[in-house]
Amino acid sequence: MTLDRRNFIKILGSASGVALAGCAGAPSISSGSAGEIMAKTGRRVVVIGGGYGGSIAAKYVRMLDSSIEVVMVERNKQFISCPFSNFYIAGITSDMNALTINYDKLAANHGIKMVYAEVSAIDPAAKTVVTSAGTLTYDRLIVSPGIDFRTEEIEGYNAQTPDIFPHAWKAGAQSTLLRNQLQSMKDGGTVIMSMPLTPYRCPPGPYERSCLIAHYLKQHKPKSKLILLDANPDVVSKKPLFTKAWSTYYKDNFQYIGAKKVTQVNVAGKSVSIEGVEDFKGDVINLIPPQRAANIVVAAGLVGDDKKWCPVDAVSFQSTKHPGIHVIGDATALPSEGPPMPKSGYSANAQAKVCAQNVVNLMNGKEPVEFSGINVCYSALNEHESVSVANVYAVKGGKIISVPNSGGISPADFSQTKAEHVYAASWLRNILTEMST
Ligand SMILES: Cc1cc2nc3c(=O)[nH]c(=O)nc-3n(C[C@H](O)[C@H](O)[C@H](O)COP(=O)(O)OP(=O)(O)OC[C@H]3O[C@@H](n4cnc5c(N)ncnc54)[C@H](O)[C@@H]3O)c2cc1C
Repeated sequence: MTLDRRNFIKILGSASGVALAGCAGAPSISSGSAGEIMAKTGRRVVVIGGGYGGSIAAKYVRMLDSSIEVVMVERNKQFISCPFSNFYIAGITSDMNALTINYDKLAANHGIKMVYAEVSAIDPAAKTVVTSAGTLTYDRLIVSPGIDFRTEEIEGYNAQTPDIFPHAWKAGAQSTLLRNQLQSMKDGGTVIMSMPLTPYRCPPGPYERSCLIAHYLKQHKPKSKLILLDANPDVVSKKPLFTKAWSTYYKDNFQYIGAKKVTQVNVAGKSVSIEGVEDFKGDVINLIPPQRAANIVVAAGLVGDDKKWCPVDAVSFQSTKHPGIHVIGDATALPSEGPPMPKSGYSANAQAKVCAQNVVNLMNGKEPVEFSGINVCYSALNEHESVSVANVYAVKGGKIISVPNSGGISPADFSQTKAEHVYAASWLRNILTEMST
């Protein structure tokens, strides 16, 4: 099966058609008031974050036990998906409509109470969440707030740096900025991409982006080139597939260099520095800083000794720092044997469902069920070919393991790439619909 650009955009577009249809009547509160937001009458679960993990956890708690009140706190009224934002950055899709969902239908269909506000503190002892709209009391808390950046590790990086050197690692305004910079760059220009050491959000994401930016340059600015500076010593995801794509499609305009950790930025000079010994100058610089769990969970003391990620129990996703609080998605440090579950939207979705089941079980005095989940990550190589990596994960001896022989990567001969491009678009449409209805 083949899929041309027009049909691909059509498939993506139908996702937003479903998701953005909206629905009146969903209970919601916007920021502005103070004190207790809503009196707690029965058992209540509060969910922080309405992204890939939080939206699904909120929905499944309500589906599994409708006697439990669920309040979801999210700072934005619309969620923009990182998956597929590389297509927009590289000019393959013209807007972010197909990546954007709202919560009206989700809230109305499942009786989830929405609070659109910034969470500024969690008090595990008092079992309260402090938001810009007031305070919420909970019986159990599920947190899926995603990531923030360890920019303090890069000399010269300040609050204005992402306005000049966008990361575009949270989709939205940053994606538009990087796209606009690429489009206004002169032909003959150099694009520098810098990616951090693992673990970071979406292991194959930077390599996908490199393919799609190289594809854009090849089509629209053929005298230009892209250099990917990888802080890791070697390609960390789907290596045979990305290296083949680079050498087959982008050998004239792309260079990969491993073990190049950016330690300093020079915004005025439009360059990044590696340990102060080597500088790379670019007309466009896409600097993806090292990452950690989102600020709110760091402030709440949910991160481990590394001060980066939140340790949790592999069965219930309950924090090992504060009982009663469950952490899922990118923010977690899962106890793992072998390669850990990647920080992906697919993983967050799978974790959310098992976490919801166990929160309901614990609140009803039942035994938790053991985690079993799948991750599949698609990556586009250009506007009509994609590849994937897939694995099944389960719990063994309190640790999450990748089940032997349960997955793998796409065939190296690229015989499935066009079909996988179709599957990828379907995946996005399905998962965003699941999150928003
Ligand atoms: C370029 C790129 C491509 C990717 N491609 C894929 C892909 O193809 N497949 C895949 O599976 N994954 C992909 N990912 C990874 C995926 O986006 C993340 O793994 C996923 O979003 C993690 O879900 P989460 O729930 O942990 O965080 P998020 O989805 O980021 O959700 C966090 C939510 O919490 C909210 N929030 C945070 N702090 C607060 C606060 N203090 N108060 C109120 N609200 C708050 C945020 O606004 C946000 O809505 C990609 C990522 C990138 C950057």
